[in-house]
Amino acid sequence: MRLIFLGPPGVGKGTQAKLFQERHGVAHISTGDILREAIEQGTALGRQARSYMDRGDLVPDDVMVGIVAERLRQPDAQRGFILDGFPRTLPQAESLECVLQEMGRPVEAVIYFELDEETAVRRSAGRLICRRCGAIYNVDHRPPRVAGACDICGGEVFQREDDRPEVVRRRHQVYRDQTAPLEAFYRARGALHRVDGKQGLEALYRAILALAKPQVGAPKASSANPGAAG
Ligand code: AMP
Repeated sequence: MRLIFLGPPGVGKGTQAKLFQERHGVAHISTGDILREAIEQGTALGRQARSYMDRGDLVPDDVMVGIVAERLRQPDAQRGFILDGFPRTLPQAESLECVLQEMGRPVEAVIYFELDEETAVRRSAGRLICRRCGAIYNVDHRPPRVAGACDICGGEVFQREDDRPEVVRRRHQVYRDQTAPLEAFYRARGALHRVDGKQGLEALYRAILALAKPQVGAPKASSANPGAAG
């Protein structure tokens, strides 16, 4: 399974990617998580990335491509991977294509999560994440059992600095300007498949699985996926 999860902030890409990691043993490669970890650890990468992230802007392409190329070579990614939050620009998408071609492991499908901006902004505003294991919660519809503590590892659960409403708006603007062109890029390659991000966790999981494993699910161009291109 080699997938890209595409869509604006707050549509549920990370939550679904974690489910796929748990249930299918594929690597969840979240560039946002990698950068946040670098910030926590105070590395040079973290210091470089922080100011961009706090503003809701993108970290430069060359930095991001290097990180992902290295991450894709790790042992856990050999069983399959889900790229969550990468690529976010056309140059990133083009570099990724080269890297994967060299590895002989092209992406099988790009899953585009559709959700209206108001709902996505609301979800981001309520999102909480675990500082230790990265588990994702939501104060409105998926709160941790004990306030402030992760159900899984007991780590501290906190609101991301860039999930404040004004930064979330900026991130959506950045998505529209720099990332939305990737929809056409992957549509032209016949790889883009839409899913409705409004669905509940399990329904969305099943919809993605049907697209990720067309050989065991419905054919790619079935009516279950009217938005599918290609
Ligand atoms: P995310 O957790 O995917 O929402 O990413 C959080 C922040 O990390 C983004 O707002 C960017 O500042 C930075 N970031 C993550 N992935 C990328 C990427 N592929 N290219 C540039 N910046 C990124």
